[in-house]
Amino acid sequence: MKVCGIVVAAGAGKRLGADQNKVLLPLMGRPLFLYALMALRPLCHHLILVTRADERAAFEALLQEHRLQVDQLVPGGRERRDSVENALTAMPAGCDIVLVQDGARPFLSQDLVRRVIDAARADGAAVPAIPVRDTLRKAENGATATVSREGLYQVQTPQGFQTALLKRAYREHPEAATDDAGLVERLGHPVTLVPGDARNLKITHPEDFTMAQQLLAGSLRLGTGYDIHRLVPGRHLVLGGVLIPHPLGLLGHSDADAPLHALMDALLGACALGDIGQHFPDSDLKYKGASSLQLLAETRGILARHGFLPQQADLTILAQRPRLAPYIPQMRQNIAGALGLPLPRVSVKATTTEGLDAVGREEAIAAQAAVTVLAVDDASFE
Ligand code: MG
Repeated sequence: MKVCGIVVAAGAGKRLGADQNKVLLPLMGRPLFLYALMALRPLCHHLILVTRADERAAFEALLQEHRLQVDQLVPGGRERRDSVENALTAMPAGCDIVLVQDGARPFLSQDLVRRVIDAARADGAAVPAIPVRDTLRKAENGATATVSREGLYQVQTPQGFQTALLKRAYREHPEAATDDAGLVERLGHPVTLVPGDARNLKITHPEDFTMAQQLLAGSLRLGTGYDIHRLVPGRHLVLGGVLIPHPLGLLGHSDADAPLHALMDALLGACALGDIGQHFPDSDLKYKGASSLQLLAETRGILARHGFLPQQADLTILAQRPRLAPYIPQMRQNIAGALGLPLPRVSVKATTTEGLDAVGREEAIAAQAAVTVLAVDDASFE
């Protein structure tokens, strides 16, 4: 079964009062639209981002900066319906299920997406919904009166459909609709409700943005890591993914890149996901001579699958020699690339130990790392 995700990010953001598309605005250092893509990426075989044609370059630059790949960029239309229709037309054949996601909903969890996929596969059409909690009043003829909230739901995204069904709904109903499920209903096909998530906010007004920031600020985790490797002749010296000319190199199973090992341990530690030895065991021949930069990128993937996003990294390398300053810009580039972080969020520093210990005697190079990680799936109102 193939799943295609469509993230609609072609809105103008007028309601938010921003002079640019609200989904391009940063939320904890990442553009808003990126969160929905990151949540869908592991569960979608094909991922489409719908943008306004005049903003395409801006979206492409941000995708590149954050190292996130979509399979297709499709131009949006005048109205939301036109944007979804463009994506349905452009998507490749062979997708059984299509998910339509609002680019302004950053907090969808993997569990929620799975619920929608499963129900859409079984029933044809499914939307996540939460029961209305507040008492409702309706204004009419200058007065207001309480309305029963019994049986009323707030509908969220992603909305999921068997692809053929959604395509037919768009073909047979050219009129505007507030959502895709509404069009499918007009075919006489029922729409299944699956439990939504109160955190799955839609960012519409400026106060929603503030709330989203607060939600994420409460979900920051701190991690630290440390590593040390022995310096020996006959090995390459690789630090921060940079090959450094030196008569000695670090001894180890992989490329023995101690700074990146400390960094991976810090990332895993922040998420309580064990350590580097558990995920990339020495006993596994696959990791013999492995590039630690590649393992760092894999670590980012492990975090993503658990709903965690690296937020910043600060590394200290302890080495008596060689002088590392010339190589630090490239190390930062490498790390930012592997983690999908903007460069200003990656810091690498180097120090000697004044000849005082094993590092000072040039018997070893050590590194320590501190990171913060955002727990997106874990964001909580409580
Ligand atoms: Mg190590």
